[in-house]
Amino acid sequence: MPFKNKGQKKEYLKIYYSIPENKEHKKQKDKEYYQKHKKERREYSQKYRENHKEEKKEKDRQYYLLHKEEHNKKAKEWRLKNKEKKKKDDKEYRENHKEESKIYQKEYRKEHKKENQEYHKKYGPIYRKNHKDKINEHTNFRRRSLELIDHIVKKDLLEMFDYICPYCNEELKNDKTTHIDHILPVNRYKAIGKKCPHGYNNCAPAHASCNHKKHDKTPLEYFWSMK
Ligand SMILES: [Zn+2]
Repeated sequence: MPFKNKGQKKEYLKIYYSIPENKEHKKQKDKEYYQKHKKERREYSQKYRENHKEEKKEKDRQYYLLHKEEHNKKAKEWRLKNKEKKKKDDKEYRENHKEESKIYQKEYRKEHKKENQEYHKKYGPIYRKNHKDKINEHTNFRRRSLELIDHIVKKDLLEMFDYICPYCNEELKNDKTTHIDHILPVNRYKAIGKKCPHGYNNCAPAHASCNHKKHDKTPLEYFWSMK
C-alpha cells in the first residue's frame, strides 16, 4: 500500500497493530526472525559494545546515578542471598586480577586511613575480647618463635651478612629496625608437620619493613613477586 508520507504510514501502522491479532502475528514474526539470526545479532551486539565501550560506561554511570538507591538496595539483597557465591566470586576475581587488586587495596587503604584507624580503635577491643583464643594463639606463636630465635646473637648474624639486608641490599643497623627473618618461613615447615629450624642456618637479618613485605614467602618467591 503506497503512503503519501511518513506520518500516514505511522498512522496506518498504529491502527494496524492496535488489532490484537496483528500484534500477536508481528510478535511471532519478530521472534522467528530473532531465532533465525541469533548468532549474527549476538555478534553484532558484541561488536557494538566493544566499539562503544566508553559510551556504554558513561550510560551505565548515568543510569546508576539516577537509580542509585534502588540499585544499592537490590545489590545488597542479592549479596545477602548469595553470600557464599559472592565470597567465591570475589576470591576468584582477586586471584585473576592480582596486580590490580594489590594496587586497588593500597589506594583504598591510603584513602581510608583515618576511617580505618577509627574503626580499629572502636572495634579492635571488641574483636580482641570476642576472639581471645585466636589472639592468644597468635601471641603465643610469635612469642615462641621469638624465644626460639633468641639464642641467636643479632650482632653475629649482622656480621655474617656484612650488615646488608639480603632483601633490599641496603645497610642494616644493630637496633630495633633490624628483625630476624626466617629464610624458609615457619609455616612451610608447619605445613608438612616439621619443626622449623630457628638457628643461624635458617635466619637472616632484615629491615622490619623488608621482613614484613617478605612475610611467608621463600626468598625466591619474594624475589619474583617484586618483578
Ligand atoms: Zn631491607
